[in-house]
Amino acid sequence: MALIVQKYGGTSVGSPERIQAVAERVKRWYDKGDDIVVVVSAMSGETNRLIGLMRAISPEPDPREMDVVLATGEQVTIGLLSMALKELGLEAKSYTGTQVAIRTDSSFNKARIESIDDQRMRADLAERKVVVVAGFQGVDDLGNITTLGRGGSDTTGVALAAALGADECQIYTDVDGVYTTDPRVVPSARRLQRITFEEMLEMASLGSKVLQIRSVEFAGKYNVPLRVLSSFGEGEGTLITVDDEEDMEKPVISGIAFNRDEAKLTVRGVPDVPGVASRILSPVGDANIEVDMIVQNVSADGTTDFTFTVARGEMKKAVAVLEKVAAELGAREVIADDHIAKVSLVGVGMRSHAGVASKMFATLAKENINIQMISTSEIKISVVVEEKYLELAVRSLHTAFDLDAEAA
Ligand code: ADP
Ligand code: ASP
Ligand code: MG
Repeated sequence: MALIVQKYGGTSVGSPERIQAVAERVKRWYDKGDDIVVVVSAMSGETNRLIGLMRAISPEPDPREMDVVLATGEQVTIGLLSMALKELGLEAKSYTGTQVAIRTDSSFNKARIESIDDQRMRADLAERKVVVVAGFQGVDDLGNITTLGRGGSDTTGVALAAALGADECQIYTDVDGVYTTDPRVVPSARRLQRITFEEMLEMASLGSKVLQIRSVEFAGKYNVPLRVLSSFGEGEGTLITVDDEEDMEKPVISGIAFNRDEAKLTVRGVPDVPGVASRILSPVGDANIEVDMIVQNVSADGTTDFTFTVARGEMKKAVAVLEKVAAELGAREVIADDHIAKVSLVGVGMRSHAGVASKMFATLAKENINIQMISTSEIKISVVVEEKYLELAVRSLHTAFDLDAEAA
């Protein structure tokens, strides 16, 4: 007998029929004798609908009240799923994050889980009840409702699995596993049987939204066996594993991630003297704007162009900060560009293989795609290109690095 945590995403609980299908799947596992804790998201589109309602009232809604509203989406699905399970003759009990209690810090909209009280869940499981928990939400020390950031139900699932010492955390979604790249963009993408935590973390951080970044961090830290699989069919899905040194067949590149969520800022004609990078980036950091890629070019006239990327939603705020810094530094101008996209190759195999970068650049050159920025780490290479070339870039790299599925 095993203890399994199953998390179902928005599409998987998107209608009464789908909630009933989830209940039937849960029952199949339960009937095998396993203890089941289910985590659910809000019905698909619901979280966006709630955000729309709030924006209609307030252009910048109060963060605490936002979480009060956002948490309602998941509260609906836990109740509905518990009813569906009861209709199938199972004993089920729903819990909001507060009721569990899933304790978080007080950073509304992006709270971090600090601890989970497992007593009520364990007592229910001991009575052979199915425990149904609302994803994406928690409660802070003062009793305020908090939410964990978009996609946060994945993290609830993994955190519960860690707290309960579950045998597996299963993330059920609308694709049947983790693919070499987003299968909605590249139809020839291939499902991976396994991927390491390290690679999955890079993929998620670089824009693959199949798992929330924090859920992968959590799973890696607490060694939670994690699997991504389809709620619509059968199959093994993708297992996220610790690095498998033994695997000699390991491909150099495991996947391609991409991100349209960034904007590029350039301060042109900055005097090329020590301390410039810090004078530009410190005020950006002080404004709470996170910087991703950075490039500094030296030009012939003793000035430099300083370029970096930020989240697209923060571009305007960053420009305002930079205009001020540019004036202080005597720089020529500030240029902002939100028609960019970042494409990244990810793979632990890169560690032992040279030539990945040159092959990447040659592939993009052959398609006449200009590379605007480059950044590398041990297991990834990212480039920024013009947004309109994103799909072409991903598809051509996918083919060049032999990631395409065999034609049937
Ligand atoms: P859920 O609502 O179940 O949490 P999400 O929409 O958050 O589902 O995540 C699943 C989606 O992630 C898929 O529909 C797919 O388009 C997207 N995705 C992006 N990159 C990948 C990838 N490498 N492998 C699989 N899916 C991916
Ligand atoms: N409902 C939340 C969202 O749409 C959390 C989740 O689905 O994981 O982001
Ligand atoms: Mg998700």
